[in-house]
Amino acid sequence: MILVINCGSSSVKFAVIAHETGEQHLTGLAEKLGSADALITFKSATGKSSLPLVPNNHESAINAVITELKVANLFDHITAVGHRVVHGGAFFHESSLITADVLDKIRACETLAPLHNPANVLGITVSQQHLPQLKHVAVFDTAFHHDMPEHAHLYALPRALSREHQVRRYGFHGTSHRFVAAKAAELISKPQSELNLISAHLGNGASVTAIKGGISVDTSMGFTPLEGLIMGTRSGDVDAGLLPYLGQVLNLDNTGVTDLLNKKSGLLGISDLSNDCRELEQAAADGHVGAKLALEMFCYRLAKYIASYLVPLGHLDALIFTGGIGENSSFIRAQVLKQLSFLSFTLNESANQSCVRGQAGNISTGTAAWVINTDEEWLIAQDTAQLTS
Ligand code: AMP
Repeated sequence: MILVINCGSSSVKFAVIAHETGEQHLTGLAEKLGSADALITFKSATGKSSLPLVPNNHESAINAVITELKVANLFDHITAVGHRVVHGGAFFHESSLITADVLDKIRACETLAPLHNPANVLGITVSQQHLPQLKHVAVFDTAFHHDMPEHAHLYALPRALSREHQVRRYGFHGTSHRFVAAKAAELISKPQSELNLISAHLGNGASVTAIKGGISVDTSMGFTPLEGLIMGTRSGDVDAGLLPYLGQVLNLDNTGVTDLLNKKSGLLGISDLSNDCRELEQAAADGHVGAKLALEMFCYRLAKYIASYLVPLGHLDALIFTGGIGENSSFIRAQVLKQLSFLSFTLNESANQSCVRGQAGNISTGTAAWVINTDEEWLIAQDTAQLTS
């Protein structure tokens, strides 16, 4: 069994997965780390339980996971540990066995992902202390996009500067895009090498990727996960010239402007109501003007990105919807396909309505549009098993 650990800036998610079957024996989530109401929840076939976390930090969350593994008699069955790492920088184009050198390189990427990589490093070092006899593997969010061609991954900045300061479009959500692309190939019964796909991972964070023959050739997130689509609280693309202007008129420093674009914009900022798509759909149906506009802008930006990816792909075999919104919102999917009818999408209304809460399916009678549930933990477990067996 593989222990999968995913340390976020204020959360720790984990799963114990039998990699041969994909069965999850125990899962859990520690949330609100750093706050007084930090809490860890465990879920297994026998039920759900929660504990307050004291102290309220990542280390105590991992300690609680290890204790629970022992209580559930799973600890001795763990054969390897897989860690989600957000940023692999220019170093990693695939998952890697964690050695001292690999850990140093993950640390070297901390300046590129200051909120995430330090938490990832902590997750690795604390679990290595508990399980020193096991091999640990890092699975990177950026790795899938590492080999995007230069014309897609570079910004139009002086090239020497890009080289010297590691400035490029890294892309994120790579594990999810890779998982759903492989799943789509299975569902279409064609090898990935023969498929041109566009995958739209639409959750609180959102990105879209053009995948040609199993390789990411362009993606909407860039140097940071702020670029691209409109997200829950992130603006996505804005004119770079807007940043100094906002700083000046709002009297904000760089951190203030970055915070505004990352935490107060997107669906939340436009609607002035919520970052939650479900809540916005309800409010829009009740006539809330901001909610309606937020959803309209979300779909328009997404449709534009999808259409633009016909440039690197030439033709499209299938579009994939995934993530909380992609897997559940028949409304968003319908709006997007309607705007892309020139690409021969024809909405199958009943399939669209039934693809919710884990039900996968093709919702278009023209060009295929698959709803596929992402499973990053499963893929992390697979990579970990492969690199450690
Ligand atoms: P994630 O970050 O992948 O967990 O996705 C979170 C997003 O999925 C939130 O905006 C939720 O409102 C959205 N979501 C989940 N279920 C639904 C649903 N049934 N309809 C619309 N949006 C949903």
